[in-house]
Amino acid sequence: MKLIFVGPQGCGKGTQAKIVSEKLGFCHISTGDLLRGVEGDLKEEVNSHMSAGTLVPDELIVRILKERVARPDCEKGIILDGFPRNVSQAEALDGIMSVDKVIEIAISDEESVRRISGRRNCGECGAIYNVNKSPKPVVEGKCDKCGIELTQRADDNEEALRKRLAVYHEETEPILEKYDSVKINGERSIEEVSRAVLEVLGVRD
Ligand code: AMP
Repeated sequence: MKLIFVGPQGCGKGTQAKIVSEKLGFCHISTGDLLRGVEGDLKEEVNSHMSAGTLVPDELIVRILKERVARPDCEKGIILDGFPRNVSQAEALDGIMSVDKVIEIAISDEESVRRISGRRNCGECGAIYNVNKSPKPVVEGKCDKCGIELTQRADDNEEALRKRLAVYHEETEPILEKYDSVKINGERSIEEVSRAVLEVLGVRD
């Protein structure tokens, strides 16, 4: 099964993609994470787009995605998180795989700003916390698992976020018309949203 999770920054699609992919044995592909892992000649170009909140060139991300989905861990199923980000990427995806379901996780721009400004990450294990809402770390500023200092993503500042939200509304939202997408309310607890996602997929919690 091939799924796409779509939604504005901070809607929880990464968290939900992780929960659902672990439950169903699917491969979770976050293009943001793939891009954060780019090394070598392309690193500078990729970082300049990411820190400004703009999209990296389609040709580059499509190439990276194509390589990733060809790996054996994608055989059982795939959840795409952060791709496609515009209509041209959605068209490129047509040539890579057929999509079974698109789930839109909706939150308001105000909620997005509130969540993203509080988001903190562990550079070691990738865990995500929030200083404004659950999940908060047990010890302020430290990862529960690794104990190391939590950091804020360079593009999680308000200026870059406003740009990323504008890109979402202008370029990403139009892809929803291409697919027969299902919209769920993301302004609920992580557990409630997971339950709604699994229900859409016809999976018992
Ligand atoms: P994310 O982790 O999904 O919030 O993505 C962070 C940043 O990575 C975005 O603001 C873009 O600069 C870049 N990015 C992630 N996915 C894509 C994509 N499908 N196309 C172009 N740029 C992307």
